[in-house]
Amino acid sequence: MNNWIRSGRPGPAVCISTGIHGNERAPVTAMRRLAQQLSSDGIAAGSLLLVLGNPKALEQDRRHTLGGVDLNRCFTDSILRQPPQHHEQARAQELARAVEAVDVLVDFHCTVEPGGRFIMHHPDDDRHQQVAALLDAPVVLSDPALLFGGCSFDEHLSTRGRVGLCYETGWIGDPACEPERILAEMRSLLQGLGVLEGEPVCLYQQRRLVLTERICCPESGFDWADGIGENLQSLPSGALLGHSRAGTPLLLSGAATVIFPKKHPELLRPGQPLVYLAADA
Ligand SMILES: [Zn+2]
Repeated sequence: MNNWIRSGRPGPAVCISTGIHGNERAPVTAMRRLAQQLSSDGIAAGSLLLVLGNPKALEQDRRHTLGGVDLNRCFTDSILRQPPQHHEQARAQELARAVEAVDVLVDFHCTVEPGGRFIMHHPDDDRHQQVAALLDAPVVLSDPALLFGGCSFDEHLSTRGRVGLCYETGWIGDPACEPERILAEMRSLLQGLGVLEGEPVCLYQQRRLVLTERICCPESGFDWADGIGENLQSLPSGALLGHSRAGTPLLLSGAATVIFPKKHPELLRPGQPLVYLAADA
């Protein structure tokens, strides 16, 4: 699914993307239902691109294809310019071309670790905050220093003067992370942007955080401390995150909120990000 729906009337070019990670299925189901609805109803203004990020990984029900790499780390200048070595690198190049005319991208995900819904975006500016306020996420996290790396699909837009947001719609295993709620949010988003008729549900009150630190996994490996490592978990200064396999404790030097803790064995890799830390903006 990489289809433009055009109204023939002026308005923004919006992209809704799902399935960049092939095992995050609830947003994919929501977007398929949205596509069905819009195939008969159409849109009121502007244009809409619905993107299924990694259909091959979706077929395999895997985060990325067997032997492949994380598609949401492939949107770097060097990967986009070079001959692709993996399915995901080729797919990133296709997607980058597909969104050349897009003004606003919201890329829908689910988190691997438990925790609440949140939005992440790179620049801490009004345009991003206005779009974020159309989504029912209690927490909005900005990353002005690009600690995440400038490598994700949403960052591909936001580092090029356009609007790109990543929306983590909830934990992959949470029954409340279900397609009907996400579909309602997609519709409300499109109403808020003027692409669909009607009023958005409301503008949400959101706690704003800023990404302050990226901690990489020690070369020896890492063991998380008991009870540590939920998304959006708030921890006090001095809290013990865990120990390197060489026995070195990892302690927080200040109070922080934990973002994207890598606990799943598939994600915990020496030298790669172990966890990100955030503070109130
Ligand atoms: Zn994801």
